[in-house]
Amino acid sequence: MSRMFVPGPVDVAPEVLAAQTKPMMPHRSKDFEAMFQRTAEKAKDLFYTQTRIFQGSCSGSGMQEAGIRNFVQETVLSCVNGSFAQRWNDVAIANGKKADKLEVEMGEAITPDMLRDALKQKHYEAVTIVHNETSTGVENPVKELCAVVKEVSPDTLILVDAVSSLGGVKIEMDALGIDFLLTSSQKCLALPPGLALAGASDRAMKKAESVTNRGWYFDLVLMEKHRLKDSTPMTPVMPLIYALDLQLDRIFAEGLDNRFARHAAMSKKVQDWAMANGMEIVAKEGYRSKTVVNVKNTHNWDISALNKFLQTRGMRIANGYGKLKDITYRVATMGETSLADVDALLAAMSDYVKQG
Ligand SMILES: *Cc1c(COP(=O)(O)O)cnc(C)c1O
Repeated sequence: MSRMFVPGPVDVAPEVLAAQTKPMMPHRSKDFEAMFQRTAEKAKDLFYTQTRIFQGSCSGSGMQEAGIRNFVQETVLSCVNGSFAQRWNDVAIANGKKADKLEVEMGEAITPDMLRDALKQKHYEAVTIVHNETSTGVENPVKELCAVVKEVSPDTLILVDAVSSLGGVKIEMDALGIDFLLTSSQKCLALPPGLALAGASDRAMKKAESVTNRGWYFDLVLMEKHRLKDSTPMTPVMPLIYALDLQLDRIFAEGLDNRFARHAAMSKKVQDWAMANGMEIVAKEGYRSKTVVNVKNTHNWDISALNKFLQTRGMRIANGYGKLKDITYRVATMGETSLADVDALLAAMSDYVKQG
């Protein structure tokens, strides 16, 4: 058994991989529409929402673009504390929006107080928040941040990227008042890449109707018209929908609470191991990701040599992302990964430490 401890694409269960190879059918057939409706319905439970789920034939970044194109006419505040949050800001600027940044050092979290100050200074149509910043292993306090938006600027839409956490960490979309919550298939959902899921609130959809220049491929108003008929304007990524149908059943068979507890326990194990071996975690206590641990490379390990060693045992970890390459390394524990897999990885890493 081989395991990739990387933050996506993660390992996919053999039966889920196999589900993709079912024969194609016309996407405008009753059979496919029934499946498309079923996957959207089931996904609502995963998002803790009663509203709607879009199933986009794109990776998560496509939904970042959809959020900007549909819910922002002009002004957006991008909360930036790492590379993926920065990407969302880049997406906003590339789409011609006036995007201000609320930025903190990589490794830090966005705090409710900072956000309160920023929202008091200027009114924004929307705010973008990355729940779990994969480049640093920092989990932003999304519940508290949503509460601040509600308190200071209740009409500001809350757009949340949960690409590397949804399905591994509980995020209650409706209870938190999130207007747009997006994720990708290839991380905690343990599906192959190429599918993005997003929940959108009613008030966000109403706003979208008034936003001009939404484009076509990511026009959620157009997609909503088709969604109401259990379809999409374009040809959907059918093999991934087949896989999603099965994978959601597997996820609910495990139980969401069990799944969240498993993810929390796995990342805790990695954190404890790193600290016991004299290394620091990038994220401060209280803001540590439950799906990916970013460790400061205190011992100046050659991460690619470490990975070569791990690969002889069928495992691999990830180097630091972007600017943090070689300064940190990352151990992701997402999707199908078990506590026993984590034990095997940490045993191998301990052997590598002993080897010197
Ligand atoms: C991986 C990742 C993305 C990019 O997702 P794609 O599916 O590769 O487009 C965006 N945000 C976060 C937090 C991520 O971890």
